[in-house]
Amino acid sequence: MTTMPPLQSKLLSRRDLEFVLYELLRVDELTKRARYADHTRETFDAAIDVAAKIAEEQFATHNKKIDQNEPTFDGKRVRIIPEVKAALDAYCGAGLMAAAHDFELGGMQLPYVVAQACFAHFNAANISTAAYPLLTAANANLIQAWGSEEQKAMYLPHLLSGRFFGTMCLTETQAGSSLSDIKTRAEPQPDGSYRLFGSKMWISAGEHDLAENIVHLVLAKIPGSPPGVKGISLFIAPKFLVNADGSLGARNDISLAGLNHKMGYRGTVNTVLNFGEKDGASAWLIGEPNRGLACMFHMMNEARIGVGLGAVMLGYTGYLHALDYARNRPQGRPAAGKDATQPQVPIVAHADVRRMLLAQKAYVEGGLALGMYCALLVDEQKTGVSPKVRKEARLLLDVLTPIAKAWPSQWCLEANSLAIQVHGGYGYSREYNVEQFYRDNRLNPIHEGTNGIQAIDLLGRKVGMDDGEALQLLARDLTRTVREAKAAESPELKGYGEQLGAAFGRVMDVIREFQCPNHRDYARTALANAHVFLELTGHVVVAWIWLRMALVAAQKVGTTDNDFYRGKLQACGYFFRWELPKTELWHRLLNGSDPTCEDMQDEWF
Ligand SMILES: Cc1cc2nc3c(=O)[nH]c(=O)nc-3n(C[C@H](O)[C@H](O)[C@H](O)COP(=O)(O)OP(=O)(O)OC[C@H]3O[C@@H](n4cnc5c(N)ncnc54)[C@H](O)[C@@H]3O)c2cc1C
Repeated sequence: MTTMPPLQSKLLSRRDLEFVLYELLRVDELTKRARYADHTRETFDAAIDVAAKIAEEQFATHNKKIDQNEPTFDGKRVRIIPEVKAALDAYCGAGLMAAAHDFELGGMQLPYVVAQACFAHFNAANISTAAYPLLTAANANLIQAWGSEEQKAMYLPHLLSGRFFGTMCLTETQAGSSLSDIKTRAEPQPDGSYRLFGSKMWISAGEHDLAENIVHLVLAKIPGSPPGVKGISLFIAPKFLVNADGSLGARNDISLAGLNHKMGYRGTVNTVLNFGEKDGASAWLIGEPNRGLACMFHMMNEARIGVGLGAVMLGYTGYLHALDYARNRPQGRPAAGKDATQPQVPIVAHADVRRMLLAQKAYVEGGLALGMYCALLVDEQKTGVSPKVRKEARLLLDVLTPIAKAWPSQWCLEANSLAIQVHGGYGYSREYNVEQFYRDNRLNPIHEGTNGIQAIDLLGRKVGMDDGEALQLLARDLTRTVREAKAAESPELKGYGEQLGAAFGRVMDVIREFQCPNHRDYARTALANAHVFLELTGHVVVAWIWLRMALVAAQKVGTTDNDFYRGKLQACGYFFRWELPKTELWHRLLNGSDPTCEDMQDEWF
């Protein structure tokens, strides 16, 4: 075995991150745009350095401790180990809460993609502590997009400085995937405000003392509004009322009914919140009445990319832990020529361990590149050079969002399972970190819209949206990569180009049939099998991303960083030879209108 370089960090590979940002996505070119003119690649790197340092020194250091000492409620206060507040103070103190916001708001005005590159370190280091700023940033973005000027002035500076934290209160016990069934009621008051009555379930970061105030964004129904999702409105309800000068007033009528005890993400306190046990929780409408879900959905793309990247980073850190372990764990001897008098070899020498490491590399590096590409689309959507470019970015992002959320939460979770397998029995013990990564990551297919709901959204809505324009844009960009690969010198890349073209043809086959007005039965069964469609499309999109990476790497093999680029080409080869062929089965199930799941009867279980 050749000697391997020591791993720099077990959070993520900086070399890989820089490859994705600068060699694949050319993020440094954003500095030519007016919004980012004060930035250079050096300022991007400096922000990432700060994030990496705080993540290593303040977040990773209490990841295990918070997992083993989850928040408790003594009937009066929620208690959380002090390391969480110290880490969050360091995060806010470095200005990271406002990384992508305007200079005027105290932000760093970084591109969203660079802010995500910073945040990736926190997700890898300690996803449950990172959830507090993740939720607060989403909350602030929503207020910025939809709040009145008065609401923005009252809340935004405090959210962006970290003085206030935020939550998203959508779910109720009887209304999870089906938000149309929420019951929380918003009674209008003579002064234009509202009083909320109802109970919200599963609310992350719903009660704590980590910040001075908690700003809840709550979905509720105004009496007399239409049934279903068309009657849902969005409200701001702070834990403490906020005076005009920013000081805090009386405590609002929002109480903690109890904590939920979870499999993972244990440091993120998860609550059942009661609104209006006394005379109603004071709340203020955001946007127009009955447009609450539309406001929420406006922010969904970014929130879902965030969840997808969280899943990627848990997979990524698990992979680096497994790689380090495999290089240092001696066990057994080479299959060919076993000689018990010879020392044992590190398990990385065994082909089956390399298989597991290669699969993890393919999933997590593919997931990172996909997530960062989607983050760049957020920047394109906001600052693209023309209205056409901005519109195209929005459409591409819309169609890719269910994949950016669901694919990593399925396959990077699988990476976490493989990381445990690489550790053997030690991986199953709590002495090592990989079992926690798996438990933490198991949330990601569930929250922010379950993967089942993402699948229905992709096939039932996104692929046909805007007369199929989003899909056509994806087809245009993917076909461009296929053409480039076919024109490459390397026979392997040419072959991958052929394979990707054929695999995308399978996706288009299903969509054509699905949209054909004469094939109603096909459409019904395809929707029943939407999960398979999501897997099919997800694997094709990630194969596309891998081929784009391979095309860059192929140009650079033989240069100083030869091993790095060879690794990229090998992982791409793995994805095309071991993963992409899975799409043939998924396509067969869909195109044969397989009725197995749909026809299964309740009584037969
Ligand atoms: C740790 C944690 C943190 C959370 N944080 C928050 C938060 O901060 N704020 C918040 O508002 N919510 C939060 N949630 C709630 C989360 O978003 C919901 O759990 C999720 O939306 C699913 O709802 P549910 O649990 O009621 O499951 P259900 O909706 O009952 O779903 C159960 C299963 O049925 C499937 N299913 C449901 N409907 C359909 C359908 N129409 N077609 C096909 N399959 C279907 C689902 O895919 C799933 O597999 C959190 C949840 C957890 C576990």
